[in-house]
Amino acid sequence: MARRRPTVLVAGLGDTGVLVATRLARSCDVIGVSTRPALMSGQELGTRLTDLSRWRRTYLVPFSRFRRLDTIDFVHGRILSTDLDDRSVEVETATGEHRHITYDAFVIATGVSNGFWRHDRVEDLAALDTALAAVNRTLESAASIAVVGGGATGVSVADNLARRGGADVHLFISSEQPLPDFHPDVRSWIMHRLGSDGVTVHTGHRAVVPGGAAPDTLTTDPITWSTGQEPFTADVVLWAVGAARPHTGFLPADVLDADGFVMVDEHLRVVGRTEVFAVGDVAASDPLRSSARNWGYRVIVANVRALLSGRESRFRSFKPAPYRWGSLLGLQSDGLTVVQPNGRRVHIPRPIAQRLLLGAFVQRVLYGGLRRTSN
Ligand SMILES: Cc1cc2nc3c(=O)[nH]c(=O)nc-3n(C[C@H](O)[C@H](O)[C@H](O)COP(=O)(O)OP(=O)(O)OC[C@H]3O[C@@H](n4cnc5c(N)ncnc54)[C@H](O)[C@@H]3O)c2cc1C
Repeated sequence: MARRRPTVLVAGLGDTGVLVATRLARSCDVIGVSTRPALMSGQELGTRLTDLSRWRRTYLVPFSRFRRLDTIDFVHGRILSTDLDDRSVEVETATGEHRHITYDAFVIATGVSNGFWRHDRVEDLAALDTALAAVNRTLESAASIAVVGGGATGVSVADNLARRGGADVHLFISSEQPLPDFHPDVRSWIMHRLGSDGVTVHTGHRAVVPGGAAPDTLTTDPITWSTGQEPFTADVVLWAVGAARPHTGFLPADVLDADGFVMVDEHLRVVGRTEVFAVGDVAASDPLRSSARNWGYRVIVANVRALLSGRESRFRSFKPAPYRWGSLLGLQSDGLTVVQPNGRRVHIPRPIAQRLLLGAFVQRVLYGGLRRTSN
């Protein structure tokens, strides 16, 4: 008699959940629950706002195009609650039905809410397209744009909007340099780059966030400052002030830290739970919660396989980088610059970045092969 394949439930099919599901589907029965029927990456907001059609090619991919997701049981919906002792979750599907799902191993990759570009609302492809286009239209018609926040998102958005032209772009940051979690050499470089690309950078400005939480829409009211400057008015204000809210409302409080992120050990296993793992922005893996971009999915895949084959001695450990790294500005006409944890910058000319990195590497190696069109 054939042995039953273990069931792995992956909660959230974003940047990390998709990578985990595509790998585990070879040896396990994977059930993937996600609020969207597509991978909609949180990466490269700047190029999403200025070059949507190119951004979509890599960062908005319907699940039906992933060959390696063909065998998974995809549930379009939202996990409402979890019973970790019973190894089960309750899901509300996009059509309003309720489904009870049990698992042998559970991977939590539900990410965070962070401005208008990341949320946990259930939506279909049409709603997603409408929302993307509406934001871009608003920004296209603005003559002045204020971006509040000097993290990777604020910098990426301000620089890309300024390079596109057509609007005065102001970036407001509370310290003297943007990118607080990046290497000092990266911080100095980006200050020069923003200036030469046409962004007016206002340092020492700490905004009063309307309503106390970062707005999840573009706003138009004048921005006021707790640092004493005069209010600033722009046609459109984009809030990129971090303040990420983890999508963990469906989990019991005893697996969450004080900020609501999932507590994990060095194996990315949830503290106190044998068969539950967490990865990506939702996992309190290190101070920067950097397991998404530091290859945490590989640790999860190896450890879930080891767990399910009774070889926990083979567990791998997650190794975070001391500083944030990545492509800050996205693909530009002259290519792609990737900043490293050690402060160095690697420049990849556009044809190579487009064909080899975003084409061959991301689509074939990382995603495991994409169909040209949806099934
Ligand atoms: C290979 C790689 C390279 C990267 N490089 C960069 C880079 O160069 N620059 C950079 O800025 N960042 C980079 N990142 C990181 C990226 O910006 C974010 O860290 C990443 O988008 C977070 O992924 P996530 O899977 O944790 O969350 P998300 O991609 O946000 O996915 C979470 C998903 O779960 C869904 N969900 C939420 N709640 C529920 C629920 N209750 N039930 C079901 N579904 C739910 C959400 O709607 C969403 O679809 C990289 C990431 C990867 C994987």
